Amino acid sequence: MFLPALALLAASIHTDFEGGSLGKVVWVSGTHARCAVAGESDQDKRNRQANWYFFRVDGAKGQELTIDLVDLPGEYNYKPNRGAVTQDTIPVYSEDGGEWRHLDRVDYDPQEPRLRLRIKPAADRVWIAHVPPYTNRDLDKLLAEFRRHPHLRRAVIGRSVEGREILLLTVTNPAIGEASKRIVWLMARQHSWEAGSSWAAEGALRFLLSAEASRLRDEAIFLIFPMCDPDGVARGGVRFNRHGYDLNRNWDRVDADRMPEIAAQRKAVLEWVDAGRRLDLFLSLHNTETGEYLEGPPDDRHAALRDRFFRMLKEATDFNPTQPARSGPPSSTPGMAGRMGVHQGLSRDRDVPAFVMEQMIAYNSKLGRLPTAADRLRFGASLARAMIAAASIAP
Ligand SMILES: [Zn+2]
Repeated sequence: MFLPALALLAASIHTDFEGGSLGKVVWVSGTHARCAVAGESDQDKRNRQANWYFFRVDGAKGQELTIDLVDLPGEYNYKPNRGAVTQDTIPVYSEDGGEWRHLDRVDYDPQEPRLRLRIKPAADRVWIAHVPPYTNRDLDKLLAEFRRHPHLRRAVIGRSVEGREILLLTVTNPAIGEASKRIVWLMARQHSWEAGSSWAAEGALRFLLSAEASRLRDEAIFLIFPMCDPDGVARGGVRFNRHGYDLNRNWDRVDADRMPEIAAQRKAVLEWVDAGRRLDLFLSLHNTETGEYLEGPPDDRHAALRDRFFRMLKEATDFNPTQPARSGPPSSTPGMAGRMGVHQGLSRDRDVPAFVMEQMIAYNSKLGRLPTAADRLRFGASLARAMIAAASIAP
């Protein structure tokens, strides 16, 4: 019979793997699907953000597929928007687990709004995502690779809501005393969709553990929170923890039940500082769609360090700022509780020279292309150098 043969050719969409996420899928025809982006809202059902999708299409080899991403509008810091998925955010795809590449055929309709993808897979299985994904499994593999490195220490400083490990990595040569060392602290993946921050953290770690960085390990201590929201990364979340709390907004709250991730990270930093140890520069890495910038602590505190670090990043890395170095406001929503980012909270609590960096996922004119995973890895190495260099010059 004719029909069963056709059925065998039908493409299907799957998200049953780590980081996978998509909302409702409606097949308009055998090769055209309308796919809602699932999105996530916070603990009060506000601030919906719908920009993480990661799915696999099976059985479409050689067929012209049309995939419409819909249900995009949301809210950011309580202001409504048309969504973060636009003509500027070109999806990536991987055929049979190969390298992530950007699609070359998309079409954005701002009216609906809708991003239409066209792809003719060369393989039976093709994965499609907002940016090159980076999962807990990727981090586990990386750390397994360096398990025996004598200058890497891996500590579990707490557990996420779902019981996953919250890690703190320390890279230094332990044979040399701390007194002469500069100390910098890097944080990645407070927001689960921002996989670019994980690729950069991996690049930093690989560089710091390399033979090339052996003198840096004598002269500095590099601390890394490599995965701040492991639950969100596992389930394919956007920017909230399992209970809906934004892990870069609640640094003025201490609530180990609802946000154990912040509680563990905050305790580690405060204990470090309260023990009288130095902390020369703290940086949390993030991604945005089209903005790239460095934001320092409020009130121009540490402005000299901020400006020096900004200049070094511009000169020695692919950092491509879309605005000048700036100081943050004391809170992202003044007058409201639970609205301080990590740099705002640590600045308020202990005057830590803490910064946030956003990197765009859209076309980067300094790179001359859409940023790839390889670009992020290379950036991470140059970032590690710039952090230590900026912290090494006396203010
Ligand atoms: Zn973020």
